[in-house]
Amino acid sequence: MKNNLLIGDFMEKYNYRQIETKWAKKWVEAKVFVPNLEGGKNPYYALFMFPYPSAEGLHIGNFYCFTCIDVMAKYKRLKGFDVFEPFGFDAFGIHLENYALKLGEHPAKVEARTTVNFRKQVQAAGLSCDYTREVDTTSPEYYKWTQWIFTQLFERGLAYQKEAYLSWCPSCKTVLADEQIEGGVCERCKTMPEKRKMKQWFFKITHYADRLLDGLSEMDWSEITKSAQKNWIGKSEGATIKFPISNFKFPNNSQNPNDQNYIEVFTTRPDTLFGCTYCVLAPEHDLVSRIVSAEQREAVAQYIQESATKSELERKENKEKTGVFSGAYAINPVNNEQVPIWIADYVLAGYGFGAIMAVPAHDERDFEFAKKFNLEIKEVISGGDIKKEAYVGEGKLVNSEKFNGLGVFEAKKAITDFVGGKLVSNYKLRDWCISRQRYWGPPVPIVYCEKCGAVAVAEKDLPVKLPELEKGWEPSGDGKGPLSNVESFMKVICPKCGGDATREADVMDNFLDSAWYFFRYLSPKNTEAIFDSSLGKKWLPVDLYVGGNEHAVLHLMYTRFITMALHDLGLIDFDNPFKKFRANGMILKDGKKMSKSKGNVISPEEYGEKVGYDALKSYILFLGPLSEDRSFSDEGIMGTARWAERVFNLTHRVEVGYGDEKSVLRKLDVTIKNVEGDMEEQKYNTAIAKLMELTNVFYGVPKISQAVFEKFLIITSIFLPALAEELWSSFAKASADEKKYKQSIFFQKWPEYDLELIKDEEIDLVIQVNGKVRGMLKVSADISEKEATNLALESDKIKNYIADKEIKKIVFVKGRLINVVIM
Ligand SMILES: [Zn+2]
Ligand SMILES: [Zn+2]
Repeated sequence: MKNNLLIGDFMEKYNYRQIETKWAKKWVEAKVFVPNLEGGKNPYYALFMFPYPSAEGLHIGNFYCFTCIDVMAKYKRLKGFDVFEPFGFDAFGIHLENYALKLGEHPAKVEARTTVNFRKQVQAAGLSCDYTREVDTTSPEYYKWTQWIFTQLFERGLAYQKEAYLSWCPSCKTVLADEQIEGGVCERCKTMPEKRKMKQWFFKITHYADRLLDGLSEMDWSEITKSAQKNWIGKSEGATIKFPISNFKFPNNSQNPNDQNYIEVFTTRPDTLFGCTYCVLAPEHDLVSRIVSAEQREAVAQYIQESATKSELERKENKEKTGVFSGAYAINPVNNEQVPIWIADYVLAGYGFGAIMAVPAHDERDFEFAKKFNLEIKEVISGGDIKKEAYVGEGKLVNSEKFNGLGVFEAKKAITDFVGGKLVSNYKLRDWCISRQRYWGPPVPIVYCEKCGAVAVAEKDLPVKLPELEKGWEPSGDGKGPLSNVESFMKVICPKCGGDATREADVMDNFLDSAWYFFRYLSPKNTEAIFDSSLGKKWLPVDLYVGGNEHAVLHLMYTRFITMALHDLGLIDFDNPFKKFRANGMILKDGKKMSKSKGNVISPEEYGEKVGYDALKSYILFLGPLSEDRSFSDEGIMGTARWAERVFNLTHRVEVGYGDEKSVLRKLDVTIKNVEGDMEEQKYNTAIAKLMELTNVFYGVPKISQAVFEKFLIITSIFLPALAEELWSSFAKASADEKKYKQSIFFQKWPEYDLELIKDEEIDLVIQVNGKVRGMLKVSADISEKEATNLALESDKIKNYIADKEIKKIVFVKGRLINVVIM
């Protein structure tokens, strides 16, 4: 032990606290992880979803997400890339404002405190972020450009104002985005939202529906994320068809060309038009009040009132169908028959035209509704039993006059043409409502002038600063934002005509702040442009993005939309912001969801103190594949902590110039190769398992050379960064090459492996058929089951035994045998 070159007195025991604190500080001070964005030759942009600082400290979920990116950043750095791993805060918006309301403190005060805590914790954990380019969405230098994006979209007709029914949370006193409604209630306060008709600002994301859909096919994103996006866009092919309203007279003989005397519907099944036995309007449909008969007026009014209290989700899921007859009739254009018009809330105002043609024989929801209200059910596609249930399968047309005998596909076009309808695509995707009647966000940069209408604030006058309100910043609940009461803010001169004008009082949705932050990271101080275009050319799109599954739909959709808009402004030449996206799983505590009420919330800081951040980070990665949920346990983390300790204690076994056993050299090179393979595919858990295995091999021999240990430290530094850095630096004392070891381990190169050495170990793999030995193959000891199966099935000897018999299963024992079980 005395001769050991590595162990200083203070390191006799693994003092992770001391080691981690020391390196966390040094890394930040020496800017070890700050890349040269201008000069870097081999850029790699690693991005994690920046956090909402709406809690006093980091949540373990944030911590896991950051770590998934951080280990990749460290690996790529060793592989010779210039890595950019930025950090910032998504600090505007409802999350932080609601937290402030709960505490009874001003949001700015809360933010000032929580961001300090978050940054401190991330730095303590030894993440390799570049803190010199931090962004904060609440800083005027940032939101100037959030507002600029709005004005650019406004100039191009992609931002507009309209009256719309929106979900309103009576408790949070704000409009809710669809994603903020969970299980029919407000995700923040669990209150049931109401429907309110309000004038709001929208972004025309539907303009990009096809591009958003088509782009998905070529993207390297998790399949589950891509299919969630696809469903959200919800494209369907169908037809629009007009149903004239029977005996309809405009009130006061209106000549208004916008007054329509027909119901327009979108249907994916124009082939079933002869089976339409009634029509349905959503309760919000403009025609309702004009067609309702005198006898039905009261019943309809009452029904509308009842359905107004339901959330959209509730209406979609509605188990029990409800509705009311309007007293009016429409004319089915295919056969001129009269069909009753009903009002029912299973039809949504925002989808299609808020009206449907109902074909109960061939649509499940219509079938249920017709059964309940005793409406006619008429079969027009053969093949089912419509007495029992709706038939939605294929078949030939029946009861459809001259179209009888046609297949569904041909009939769609033929019938649409016959009634003068149009074949069109329809989308579930709606325009993005971005107005919020709140305080804590970037004001919508619009001025209202009596003469000029809505005018965008000019770029030179941006940002429209959010006034600092000591009082009165809380949401009022009257449907107007708190800014509407601030006279000094509201009164303004019209930028166009110089006359008196008023500002828009709404602020913008938090999702807009976070839809473009990765552009800003490149040049957060730039006052001339949203981002530096030469840096953008070099560093964008982002190479790898990781974040929680809960953002797989809206956040990613909005980022893609804003990226497409910036593309169309000529600022960038790509459409997809993230070359690769992976959603990280959730962390459970002992198999259960964490919650404050259960008292089982994991604090990263607490475990950083208990077992060290190196062990904590490795443990949460080790628990399973990146995208899967993982169960954290105190016993489990001790296993990883012991591994770190064993790595530390390996120093006792290291000797300069020791002649290593060939098996050790081979295992090291195999590990270098395999960890590399795992890292490229974000298989962090299996990479760690391989490093643990190698550690065991080192403990199985009396000594290892310093050369072997150095390589091991480099590949282990991605998971145990502070420990590896400490041991690395300790070489400096005893080495002639002091300079090398005084430099951070993260400036070293990922070690090469010797292909010859790895290939060297071949084994005889026994091949059995139904348990009997039928042959032998020389293969690499590391051969996978798939490779071994292919080789075995291709070998001539085995082919004879199998012939054309069916293979029931393959049994593979790694390094020993493969058994083909046949019938
Ligand atoms: Zn709420
Ligand atoms: Zn004006």
